[in-house]
Amino acid sequence: MKAKIEIIVATQLVALAFCMGIFDSSFVAGHMTHVAPEDVASALHNLATGQTPFAVVVGCSDSRVAPEIVFDEGLGDIFVIRTAGEVVDDAALGSIEYAVEHLGSPLIVVLGHERCGAVSAAVAGAQAPGHIATLLKAIEPAVEQTKGKPGDAVENAVRAQALDVAKQLREAEPILAERVRTGRLKIVAARYDLDTGKVEVLPF
Ligand SMILES: [Zn+2]
Repeated sequence: MKAKIEIIVATQLVALAFCMGIFDSSFVAGHMTHVAPEDVASALHNLATGQTPFAVVVGCSDSRVAPEIVFDEGLGDIFVIRTAGEVVDDAALGSIEYAVEHLGSPLIVVLGHERCGAVSAAVAGAQAPGHIATLLKAIEPAVEQTKGKPGDAVENAVRAQALDVAKQLREAEPILAERVRTGRLKIVAARYDLDTGKVEVLPF
């Protein structure tokens, strides 16, 4: 109980520091993932003037599935687009196209995950308020495809949703589809396991 209280207090302190405009990123203190403390300054300088992320990750907004942490990547390594249920609308697609067209990313990973709340709600046919309904509607095709199939309904829909989004991106004209056709872009669907931390690439 004591440890839990300490965590809450620490989080609130960080939030308060942000509000007061006095929060420094950890890089100022010389901490940066995959970079030795003595190299942080030059790494920051390089990133300040450009980025060449080697992959785009289209993932769920779920707080337990942060792609940089799941894949153990540092700043500048992956270009991330996140919405609940990894739903891709026009703004998300434009962001993906930007990463592929302007930054030259040759790989897109669509990352679904075990026990996804958005997919679970879509499977349950939940009546959601506000714009959440729009989100659930976008997941409905994956639910419909897997209805009545053997196994767990949510798990089946999680996989179908990741595969559907990957297919949507492969067929997205003019930028993504053309690059897939010419072999300059690979798009894969994957599933993150909350229990084991493993990422499984889904066959399509
Ligand atoms: Zn999710």
